[in-house]
Amino acid sequence: MAGNRIFLIGILALAGLASAPAVAQTAAEVRDVRFGVDGDRTRVVVELSESAEFRAFTLAEPSPRLVVDLPAASWTVAGLQTGEGRGHGLFGDFRYFQSGGERARIVFELDGPALVAAQFSLGPAAEGGNHRLVVDVERAEEDSFRAASGFPAHDGMESLIAARAEATFREPERERRIIVIDPGHGGRDPGAVTLNGSREADINLAAALELRRQLEATGRYEVILTRSTDIYVEHEDRVRIAAAARADLFISLHADSAPNPGARGASVYTLNDRGESRARQRALTSGDPLVAEARASAPEVNNILVSLALREKRNQSSVFASALLPHIATVGPVIDASRREANFYVLLDSQAPAVLLEMGYITNREDERNLNSAAYRERLMRAVVTAIGEYFDTRGNGLEGPVRHASLQPAP
Ligand SMILES: [Zn+2]
Repeated sequence: MAGNRIFLIGILALAGLASAPAVAQTAAEVRDVRFGVDGDRTRVVVELSESAEFRAFTLAEPSPRLVVDLPAASWTVAGLQTGEGRGHGLFGDFRYFQSGGERARIVFELDGPALVAAQFSLGPAAEGGNHRLVVDVERAEEDSFRAASGFPAHDGMESLIAARAEATFREPERERRIIVIDPGHGGRDPGAVTLNGSREADINLAAALELRRQLEATGRYEVILTRSTDIYVEHEDRVRIAAAARADLFISLHADSAPNPGARGASVYTLNDRGESRARQRALTSGDPLVAEARASAPEVNNILVSLALREKRNQSSVFASALLPHIATVGPVIDASRREANFYVLLDSQAPAVLLEMGYITNREDERNLNSAAYRERLMRAVVTAIGEYFDTRGNGLEGPVRHASLQPAP
């Protein structure tokens, strides 16, 4: 999740590190971001709940972009919870950086050299409507673009910090989301084994192979398995595989067992608080790539960076877990308290959103029969694929799907 990691460095740098200003208590909200295209000119309109001072400027390095600085505001744009989206016309992807301090920033990728032709604000068009920040951008020659671009000179230290954030903010280069699937157990560790001879490790692997098949068939994902045969893999190695792959999502597949043969149904786990402390410790003391990167760019901030990464990971894991359950429930039973937290080692990578799916109880006769059925696994994994697609669409920068939130009608 290269993009996210870099995004976090951006937040951190913008927060002003140790000298972070007091948090401005404001109820301001960013409610919408709209684009209108008119020939070589593209207008972006940022809709806010209140009027706000802002400024827009372009940057040439490391790639053409438009920066809009505004006071801190909460981001409530429907369908773009993570503050990421895709523009139109001259605008490519954009991201919202909430510093937690007094400032916020929206960075828009530009598809080439362009100049700010106009910037102004407008009051609500009707009573109770949104305030609007309007920036017009016009395609330009490389020379004039370079001459006009750069951080406004009077900013001093803040600019330097922001410049570092900009320099480290890059879009991930890859085209496909990377999903790591982790079939639990294997080899000398069969997991739960039933009297009928069902082995959890085999069921997990069969489900994982089916999930990989379906994910690859969509063309949207690159899929990595922590094991694709009946071998034993250490927990730490499973975590390392996710970290090394910079996975966008990590899914561990298991089948539950209980002394009570009546217990049945699926459940989804994310990391609990204790697991999160362990993940923090692991990130700070191991060769976690996040920490290595932080050390290179700002050695004093490892702790903060890891905390931010873990917070983002927790939010995203939770979003995905909640998206997953309703789809699972259309295929088979889920247990009553189906959304759970635990201190599972395989969920410890500091960055990839991670869930552990217990597909059902191998100790329940009906669940066992289902999990041993290729047709059932096909349906169950179809539900997982649907949930994954929804999750990335909502994150706002999947390859396809209804992510183009911004409306096409010309802005006012
Ligand atoms: Zn298991």
